[in-house]
Amino acid sequence: MKFCPACGSALVPSTQEGRTRLICSSESCGYIFHDNPVPVVAALVEHGQTVLLVRNKGWPDKWYGLVSGFLERGETPEEGILREVKEEVGLRGEIISFIGAYAFLEMNQVILAYHVRAHGEIVVGEEIAGVKAVPPDKLRPWPLGTGHAVRDWLAARGGLGPTVA
Ligand SMILES: [Zn+2]
Repeated sequence: MKFCPACGSALVPSTQEGRTRLICSSESCGYIFHDNPVPVVAALVEHGQTVLLVRNKGWPDKWYGLVSGFLERGETPEEGILREVKEEVGLRGEIISFIGAYAFLEMNQVILAYHVRAHGEIVVGEEIAGVKAVPPDKLRPWPLGTGHAVRDWLAARGGLGPTVA
């Protein structure tokens, strides 16, 4: 952001208490661009005996992640993630548990991740390029974004993969 959204003057960097922020160059304005992280809701969707991973349009071919999206005004996180599940994979979901909150510093986001059980037939949403249904035994976390929630969910259900007797 280069210009103040309140008055249109230039924004300039200013360092206070060790943090550099963009502030409005007009002294009568006082606008500070805080650039606060944005909350994102995500769902580890269990459907039958599988976990659903999705690839958003515009992502590289091999990238898959959890169903996720931004909240809309007036929504609770729980309502928002169930709406996203409906939009992205066409399923009716119910929240089983909250998995955790994860900073996604590269994207300036905070991910709120839920375990959701979903019912019905998968219908791939308009924003989605692909859906993969992965048995939990084959599910592996990735070290970015919603992958941390996958790691914690797998750990809570007893570790990675089947136990070898
Ligand atoms: Zn201003």
